[in-house]
Amino acid sequence: MRIAKNGDVHVSAPVGLPRTTVEKFVAEHLNWIEQARKRTLARQQQRAAFYGQLPLKTRKERAEAIARLDAIVQPMVERYARQMGVTPSAITYKAMISRWGMCNIKTHAICFSIYTLLLPEWCIEHVVAHELCHLLEPTHNARFHALMDQYFPNWRAARKHTRLIQS
Ligand SMILES: [Zn+2]
Repeated sequence: MRIAKNGDVHVSAPVGLPRTTVEKFVAEHLNWIEQARKRTLARQQQRAAFYGQLPLKTRKERAEAIARLDAIVQPMVERYARQMGVTPSAITYKAMISRWGMCNIKTHAICFSIYTLLLPEWCIEHVVAHELCHLLEPTHNARFHALMDQYFPNWRAARKHTRLIQS
């Protein structure tokens, strides 16, 4: 049983299990459902409040935010690209909320979420190092982590910090 983002309750049950059994199970867990719903709602409000700090509705707001972020990110990209010996083909910015950055392994283009601007600078640096590192290793395997240990040793703390903000 789990709670969907909209508060719906989803129950998985084996085929053939009588509906009354499922209903009884749900009825017995109403307390749990109520608590889980409250947690989901609180988390959503927290997320909305976090992303709401950076309004990106108008073109002007987006352009200004991108300019501010680019001023922070470009020097970091240059530094890490030099250290790692990689060359990203393009750096772009999008208002993504599902992830902080993306790396296209085929084109070597890297995209950062504009909301990265809401992170402390050392966490922005972590996102930059992480995405550039994908130019050396596409997957999050042991080699990737070894490379991160080498180029951004504090990556575990940064990952933990950014996950807390986001989740
Ligand atoms: Zn990654």
